[in-house]
Amino acid sequence: MAQPGRPPAAVGHSGQNGAGEQRYTNGPVQNSLVHSSQMSDGQGYSSAVPGLYSHQVPAKVPLQPSSGQYNFGGSQNVSPLSNQRSGQTINRPSMGHTSVVPLQHASSGPQMLPPSQNSAAVPSSSSSFVPGAHNAALSNWQYDQTPMSQPTGSQTHHFAHIAGTASTHPSLSLSGSTNPPTSHQYTVSPGGPPLQNSYMKPGSVPAPVNRPLASVFPPARSPPGPPPVGGPTLVRPSAPPVGPPPTSSVPHPPLNSASNHEGDVTATASDGSLVQNSYDAIEGGGFMATTFPSPAPQNLNLGRSIGYSYPTLPPAYQSASSPGAPGMQSSPLQYPAGSQSFPQPALGGNHLTASMGRLSLQPEGLRPINLLQERNILPVTPLQAPVPNLHEEIQKLNCNPELFRCTLTNIPQTQALLNKAKLPLGLLLHPFKDLSQLPVVTSSTIVRCRSCRTYINPFVSFLDQRRWKCNLCYRVNDVPEEFMYNPVTRVYGEPHKRPEVQNATIEFMAPSEYMLRPPQPPVYLFVFDVSHNAIETGYLNTVCKTLLDNLDLLPGNTRTKIGFITFDSTIHFYSLQEGLSQPQMLIVSDIEDVFIPMPENLLVNLNENKELIQDLLRTLPQMFTKSLETQSALGPALQAAFKLMSPTGGRISVFQTQLPSLGVGALKSREEPNQRAAAKDIHLTPSTDFYKKLALDCSGQQVAVDLFLLSGQYSDLASLGCISRYSAGSVYYYQSYHHQHNPVQVEKLQKELKRYVTRKIGFEAVMRIRCTKGLSIHTFHGNFFVRSTDLLSLPNVNPDAGYAVQMSVEESLTDMPVVSFQSALLYTSSKGERRIRVHTMCLPVVTTLSDVYLGADVQAITGLLANMAVDRSVSASLSDARDALVNAVIDSLSAYRSLVLSIQQPGLMAPYSLRLFPLHVLALLKQKAFQTGTNIRLDERIFTMCQVKNQPLIYLMLMTHPNLYRVDNLTDEGALNINDRTIPQPPILQLSVEKLSRDGAYLMDAGSVMFMWVGKNCGQNFISQVLGVPSYASIPQNMTHLPELETAESIRTIAFISWLREQRPFFPILYIIRDEGPLKSSFLQNMIEDRTESALSYYEFLLHIQQQVNK
Ligand SMILES: [Zn+2]
Repeated sequence: MAQPGRPPAAVGHSGQNGAGEQRYTNGPVQNSLVHSSQMSDGQGYSSAVPGLYSHQVPAKVPLQPSSGQYNFGGSQNVSPLSNQRSGQTINRPSMGHTSVVPLQHASSGPQMLPPSQNSAAVPSSSSSFVPGAHNAALSNWQYDQTPMSQPTGSQTHHFAHIAGTASTHPSLSLSGSTNPPTSHQYTVSPGGPPLQNSYMKPGSVPAPVNRPLASVFPPARSPPGPPPVGGPTLVRPSAPPVGPPPTSSVPHPPLNSASNHEGDVTATASDGSLVQNSYDAIEGGGFMATTFPSPAPQNLNLGRSIGYSYPTLPPAYQSASSPGAPGMQSSPLQYPAGSQSFPQPALGGNHLTASMGRLSLQPEGLRPINLLQERNILPVTPLQAPVPNLHEEIQKLNCNPELFRCTLTNIPQTQALLNKAKLPLGLLLHPFKDLSQLPVVTSSTIVRCRSCRTYINPFVSFLDQRRWKCNLCYRVNDVPEEFMYNPVTRVYGEPHKRPEVQNATIEFMAPSEYMLRPPQPPVYLFVFDVSHNAIETGYLNTVCKTLLDNLDLLPGNTRTKIGFITFDSTIHFYSLQEGLSQPQMLIVSDIEDVFIPMPENLLVNLNENKELIQDLLRTLPQMFTKSLETQSALGPALQAAFKLMSPTGGRISVFQTQLPSLGVGALKSREEPNQRAAAKDIHLTPSTDFYKKLALDCSGQQVAVDLFLLSGQYSDLASLGCISRYSAGSVYYYQSYHHQHNPVQVEKLQKELKRYVTRKIGFEAVMRIRCTKGLSIHTFHGNFFVRSTDLLSLPNVNPDAGYAVQMSVEESLTDMPVVSFQSALLYTSSKGERRIRVHTMCLPVVTTLSDVYLGADVQAITGLLANMAVDRSVSASLSDARDALVNAVIDSLSAYRSLVLSIQQPGLMAPYSLRLFPLHVLALLKQKAFQTGTNIRLDERIFTMCQVKNQPLIYLMLMTHPNLYRVDNLTDEGALNINDRTIPQPPILQLSVEKLSRDGAYLMDAGSVMFMWVGKNCGQNFISQVLGVPSYASIPQNMTHLPELETAESIRTIAFISWLREQRPFFPILYIIRDEGPLKSSFLQNMIEDRTESALSYYEFLLHIQQQVNK
């Protein structure tokens, strides 16, 4: 057995955040608190304060066995357990022995819905926990939804149709910029000493200390602002020292927050739900929370229209104003002189469109394209996110679009305008992405808006050195004393140069106020299906081996705990108590009333008990090889796992290979192969709410459940998947996993499991998204539970999860040149630190339809529509969702044609920015989630839907519209050079067989799978030098690996494929297929532009759209 003896604690700090974490400690005065979280670390063992968490623990199944059957008198005594089996060690009991297992399929726990109610439960439980959530009209797919009103309606979908009405819905958006969160210019700020140790090192910070302030910065009022000609006109770099405007005239925007005071922890569950929003109080209310006027003194009220300051728009943004920036005053205080004269406005399209009438210039994004004529619209390089049309000084601070992206990078000023555009407004987030560099601030004071709790960010305005204005609610806040010191430059009096104000992506070390209890240790529980069926697949070998190899890489610290449960018709626990010579197996066969034998020895310290754990992992695969038990008591096993994990929270990884058949959560097959084709009546909704309810229980105890489904048969993923969806877990699916029949899956499982167990993880997390007043966020997509209107509960957060939200424009954004948006993710790191990761994005507001189209981000739009279509498929039907997707294209292109195009032309016209929209939507229709046809198994379809909901946009796009490359003629021209490797960059080809030549070989990268198709007449050179076989005919039928040959061709090809694989968290299998192989149909299925038996070709699709548009 390979058992590398890696030293423990191999995962350092950097492991938590990628390579280049930088920390900034705070100023001179406050260092005492710098590492408060670590202090709590020491005491954190006690799982104290359970009361705070207990609100969601259902008062169900008591731990004590109620039946006297097993006389289990206490948790410490194993012997009476499970009949005669007491004290048993790992040897699997002989099969014949059956410990009174009450076989009760349909029986359900007291809190479960009786199976008979299943059908009735379906509609209401489909995607919202609240009955009546689906009352919105479903027939028309509009994006202006009713604001989410129900507290728990996480995955709701309101498609209320509000055609053209000027309704009041906020929209919101933040899209990204090209600016990676990695730049830290502040390191070189003028005047500052060489940075030396400005980061990290608590206590090493120099001691400049409290200088007198008053004399330098007039605290109170500054001169009246510049005349607000045509609205705010300022630009961030030269924020003038403007004071608050006259307080009287300007109405104060309503401020919203759950609590206005830092310590006010009484955030109410406004809905009266059971959920106590403890986290709400900590993280602070958002705009969605109860709204009430700020109690702030009146003289702090600020009209939002008076936008002196900082991050407003580039002057030329207003068409009326000249680039000279009228009304700007230079700041004597903070900004470098150079920036006072406005830098040239960014020459984004907006400026041009604004003056288009006069100049008859047209930005590229608006160039009308006749899609029927221009067939070669696919760019040969990966499509980039559009760059928001902001002043470059602002844009360069903007959030990276890989983290935060908006469907419309030009935000429509009103909902009416948004309605006209017929495009969805929403955000796509990848908030916990692995970052190579992440600024981390350790400070005793985290500066946030007193009203809306927004974290200070690059887009706030400094009115003067002592006051900053919130860019979300416009409240004026004081700059705390300690914020005056810049730890980076070590200069006093430069609050605007603090890292918090220089980085759109930043992480804070959270002080103890951000904790409901001391940070818990990382706890990992593995739950394995060991039924006959499971053992037969051979998965347990692979999993145990992979775990064994990576045990030391599990993120954590000296407190990390681990445990194991196995199950078939009974549940098996493993005591790993110190002092045992080998692990001890405890079998509980009462699956009706699951209890935990000796709970204190089942989850044990990883470091202190490593040998026993390794022993178990080595033994486990062999223990059940003779098992004939075919039943699966998954539900009871999950209940046991939940109970075991409840005190601390943590992560449950469950491996399942079949339909659960025993105890609560038992399921019946619903897949009827002959009906797979029918778009309706397929079972996309769960058949029981057991898994969802259990997931909510888990969520309440900070437990997430990740599901690995390895099954060749229907396993009802629609029901099982709920366990992960609502507990913020992940779902993995290995269809027809078998170590011998399907060996290529073994490598995939190994690789993906390694990523899974070693990737960063955050515990006890919540995420809130805030946006500038006037915008509102309503529907959330992803795996989580919506705890209080807008607070997403994430018992675990992982770096591979994506989220999407829909937004609307609730109040007109008049006089707002820009809006902002902020996501804040509060979590406990595997090191036991409480941290907050904040991303902020700023986008311009526009008033014309052409500007809205100009800023359209077609990939983000497609991603959001895909999420909405999943909801629609579940709540209505697949065909409904498909219709809605097609209508989205028709409606937007119709609107463009009738409202923007000045000259009507024949053909199907689209603005350049949306030229790929029909193609992407067609690709969605052909995607496994949404396609019709008989060849998609139900679980496979459901899994694809899970991926749509949970994957970051970049992977979603790849699986929707794969990239096709010709690879038999790779060259170094234009290649990337990474770490001495040369990575060829072949152009991306259109997905049509027209682009294939029988002389060539092509690689199709569909994200989680790759196909290499080799043409019949492919050059002999490629066949021998890359494939390593003598002739075309000798290419093996089931080839899945390229041999590593010493030829230049082989090295290039492998470098390219490896590079593609390295960039994603999953491991795509490579299938090498000959011209006429059995897998050819899978390859052709992805040829989006071609006709298939059940779907239109791209050209036919365009004709269809054209017909509808011209109606
Ligand atoms: Zn605010």
